[in-house]
Amino acid sequence: AATRHAVASRVTARASAKASSGATSSSVAALMAGAAASGAFALSGNRRGKVSRTFRSSRVKLQAGNLEISEENPLHVIIAGGGVGGLMLAKALSKEPTMKCTIFEQTNQFARFGGPIQIASNALSVIRDIDETLFNNLMDKFTFTGCRQNGLVDPLRNEWYCPFDAMKTSADHFELPYTGVVDRPDLQEILLNAIPEGMLQNSQKVSGYEVLPDYAGVKVQTKGGEDAVCDVLIGNDGIWSAIRAQMWDEDQKGPGSGCTYSGYIVFAGETIYKPDDYFDVGYKVYMGPKRYFVTSDVGRGRIQWYAFVAVGEGEQVPRSPREKKDYVKAAFQGWSQQVQDLLEATPSDTVE
Ligand SMILES: Cc1cc2nc3c(=O)[nH]c(=O)nc-3n(C[C@H](O)[C@H](O)[C@H](O)COP(=O)(O)OP(=O)(O)OC[C@H]3O[C@@H](n4cnc5c(N)ncnc54)[C@H](O)[C@@H]3O)c2cc1C
Repeated sequence: AATRHAVASRVTARASAKASSGATSSSVAALMAGAAASGAFALSGNRRGKVSRTFRSSRVKLQAGNLEISEENPLHVIIAGGGVGGLMLAKALSKEPTMKCTIFEQTNQFARFGGPIQIASNALSVIRDIDETLFNNLMDKFTFTGCRQNGLVDPLRNEWYCPFDAMKTSADHFELPYTGVVDRPDLQEILLNAIPEGMLQNSQKVSGYEVLPDYAGVKVQTKGGEDAVCDVLIGNDGIWSAIRAQMWDEDQKGPGSGCTYSGYIVFAGETIYKPDDYFDVGYKVYMGPKRYFVTSDVGRGRIQWYAFVAVGEGEQVPRSPREKKDYVKAAFQGWSQQVQDLLEATPSDTVE
């Protein structure tokens, strides 16, 4: 999200100047829309209003600004956080010759971790629009599920409650790629290879920012490193965002952070397992009271499962993988035989 006042003003001033000089300002407008949208994504309704109002009033105030964005004088964007969101955004911005983009990532190097990530048709088509080569590299590692049967299942009768037929029909109608999954480490590697060299700076933990007077930009403070000045700072530093905490004067973590407990905990596992309907089904969501169980084909013969259980905040939950598996088995006892078989086939030490 853009910083509260001056960042928006400076972007608007430069965008207005560019628009009035006859050049296109679509990239800046897109960035502003993106910044407003991401602010709205993490924040509540009245805050969404706050962000848009800031943009609007800034535009009126600075319409006559004489700053101009050009290839020689690009808009400098710093993205705090090189997760999948930050890397994808950096790739999109790197296509704009009038923008200079830098990612500050706190970790000193990227590790391969995490399970499969589902990417839906609409997101895939956006990725294809951003960069065809990136999209093709993603497709090389992709497993399609959206062309098969997906939906909600009655866990006792083992019947479809509600198949998600629109996933395939709407993708066919709008000529979108089918929904599917990719392993998170593969996605990360594809994105890291896709961004221009030198754009990513590791070991740069953003600790805060300062909005400079007279629309001079934003000073980005890093822990143990040097400060940097840019036109736009985008806080893409994850769910416990330091930038969001400063921007909205909230705690970074905990009840005062704006990110509250959903009421559910989730366990996850993955195993080689071939149910009878292996070739017909993409993913199933077995729905029950205060719990649900998701299974998905994640490619190369693997099925991944997620078990969601309603648990009061702070309640004791099992710690070791073996205890977790026993807990999940007990919680879903009597559910579809497929759920039982899948849990049985999952190595205990892999349950997270
Ligand atoms: C179990 C599980 C399953 C999921 N499955 C799916 C799925 O199937 N499909 C899907 O679309 N999504 C899924 N998600 C959600 C998805 O993982 C997140 O939405 C996504 O990772 C968010 O990306 P991000 O880049 O915004 O944040 P993150 O991936 O959290 O990245 C944040 C980055 O910022 C860095 N950082 C943090 N603080 C700082 C700082 N102060 N300075 C600099 N860098 C910093 C971190 O090191 C990290 O690299 C799942 C999540 C979980 C937990």
